[in-house]
Amino acid sequence: MRTAEAIVVGGGPAGSTFAGALAAAGLDVVVLDQAEFPRHKVCAGWITPGVVDALSLDLQDYGRGRVLQRITRFRTGVIGGPVLETEYGRTVSYGILRCEFDAYLLRRSGAEVREAARVETIERAGRDWIVNGDTRGPLLVGAGGHFCPVARHLGARRERDPVVVAQEIELPLTGDQERETAVRGETPELYFCADLKGYGWAFRKGDRLNVGLGRLDRQGLTAHVAAFRDFLVSTRRVPADLPARWNGHAYLLYEARRPSVVEDGALLVGDAAGLAYAASGEGIRPAVESGLLAAETVLSARGQYGRQYLEPYRRALAARFGTGERRFFPPVPAGLVAAAGRRLFRTGWFAKRVVLDRWFLHKDLPALRTGRTAIGP
Ligand SMILES: Cc1cc2nc3c(=O)[nH]c(=O)nc-3n(C[C@H](O)[C@H](O)[C@H](O)COP(=O)(O)OP(=O)(O)OC[C@H]3O[C@@H](n4cnc5c(N)ncnc54)[C@H](O)[C@@H]3O)c2cc1C
Repeated sequence: MRTAEAIVVGGGPAGSTFAGALAAAGLDVVVLDQAEFPRHKVCAGWITPGVVDALSLDLQDYGRGRVLQRITRFRTGVIGGPVLETEYGRTVSYGILRCEFDAYLLRRSGAEVREAARVETIERAGRDWIVNGDTRGPLLVGAGGHFCPVARHLGARRERDPVVVAQEIELPLTGDQERETAVRGETPELYFCADLKGYGWAFRKGDRLNVGLGRLDRQGLTAHVAAFRDFLVSTRRVPADLPARWNGHAYLLYEARRPSVVEDGALLVGDAAGLAYAASGEGIRPAVESGLLAAETVLSARGQYGRQYLEPYRRALAARFGTGERRFFPPVPAGLVAAAGRRLFRTGWFAKRVVLDRWFLHKDLPALRTGRTAIGP
């Protein structure tokens, strides 16, 4: 039996950030992930500068041999409508490949990582947890994403939760396809569905193209994806032979009903805690920040992992991400909102100040300040 202070289930950005902060403080931490890294993750791979800051990411080191696409402008609009270009004149986001990014963070964490270790069983034995019958410890951290087994063990029933449903495809471009494609690396394109219940994106990173669409309702997702693909092909934004079959995924938004993120001896971080931002679907920053906030609480708890000692984490999440339901539009009839929204999306002011600055770049959100931000050994 392997005994550790903390068992982290999931080695994505949330799990690796948490594990890295504990390892840096000298705690014995084991990360279990069902995948072998580098692994694919359905994601557009767009990170905001807040992620770089929170992770103290050395961009020069990271960019060596990995895709790091600097983003300085965007194209936005409603699918089928006019297109607006917003220029920032400086780097306001980055494009990364999740297979590279997640593997880099996990290796950098300095924690013991067990790959191809799918968590099947979780048992309570006194004050300890026993995972898969062979790993034991007093602290269990659920970082397993939307279908995290720890969240399920703590009572989350994701089938009933409102989620974002998304489909995405990422593929390398041949020379001919590259010439044919209007989407350029520094100019991600964001197009909202006419009912404003979702948006699609086309995003170049290095020689790869990432295209996807996410919606707040499951109904007609395939039809919305097909219409978006047709729009992109007909405007020559993507190659004409872009496959019609994309990868599907779902995730919980912070605005949705949230699971209990703290229990006796257990915490949830990242998507397992349902932290993605509703307007943009950005989940990497909340995953990283929740990993840091959870680590701060655990280090302050000094080995006492009763619920009351872990409560500061729940309060820290509420302080950082808000407590109640946040919506972008006032409670007026949906048709009216959509009609007004479509008009607003055509104005440069709205595209920059609201859609990009507020929803996607979180310009008004201050950097996360924690007492201990070191990650890795
Ligand atoms: C289509 C799409 C596009 C997106 N685009 C963006 C974007 O551009 N920018 C952004 O910020 N966010 C984006 N997101 C959201 C983002 O991908 C997630 O919020 C983020 O990955 C959450 O990180 P995490 O560490 O919590 O979980 P994950 O990254 O999902 O990691 C969870 C880990 O747990 C492991 N795991 C799961 N179950 C088990 C088990 N039983 N046993 C062991 N291991 C297990 C998995 O293998 C995985 O490695 C997108 C999401 C989707 C669906």
